[in-house]
Amino acid sequence: MLLQAERELVAEYGRKMSADRLSTGTSGNISIFVPERDLMAISPSGIGYFDIRPEDIVVTDLEAAIVEGTRKPSSEWALHTLFYKRKPHIRAIVHTHSMYCATFAVLGQPLRAVHYAIADAGAAEVPCAPYFPFGTLELAEAAVETAGNSDAVLLGNHGLVACGRDIAGAYGLAVNMEYVAELQYRALCVGTPNVLSQEAMADVMERFQSYGQPDGKKTGY
Ligand code: 13P
Ligand code: ZN
Repeated sequence: MLLQAERELVAEYGRKMSADRLSTGTSGNISIFVPERDLMAISPSGIGYFDIRPEDIVVTDLEAAIVEGTRKPSSEWALHTLFYKRKPHIRAIVHTHSMYCATFAVLGQPLRAVHYAIADAGAAEVPCAPYFPFGTLELAEAAVETAGNSDAVLLGNHGLVACGRDIAGAYGLAVNMEYVAELQYRALCVGTPNVLSQEAMADVMERFQSYGQPDGKKTGY
């Protein structure tokens, strides 16, 4: 089976996404890109994450031609392939409809620097793309354009896209963005959150470069 290890990871992180309540039902999707082979392993469309086996993961090229797999790939294949084309540093994407990110996506409002953890996105603000129907090229274009330099972007009236250098990074970013979104929501419920300045966030991003162990690999989120 092509991309066996990546297929197993996509299936494993799908189960995690459901268990961690970042996804309800069949919402969201996950992919891993392997540039050496120019191939992507992507979750199948409309199958519950606890039912997905590695052989259900679909292997495609970046034009979405199926190279191996019997299932229909995620309806968001264009979103995934466009991010890999436009952001060459990324190797994995996690798309969720997690509750608090989706709440701000419904409001059409960005996630702001209410907590320094937003720097995990590589930006001081996570913008919100305008609404387009799921599974469309228009949605993919709007998401990539709106994301700009950020590794995370909200999709209007829809959810979140989180990109990473590996699947742990993309998944961790989705978890952290949900944390920031919940915090922003809770703070807005009782007052006016202090938003960290551009300077403070530039400082955090620099500190993040040396955060964790010297080999540069942080574990967990
Ligand atoms: P798929 O099941 O086709 O991946 O769609 C879920 C989704 O979140 C669409 O935006
Ligand atoms: Zn979706």
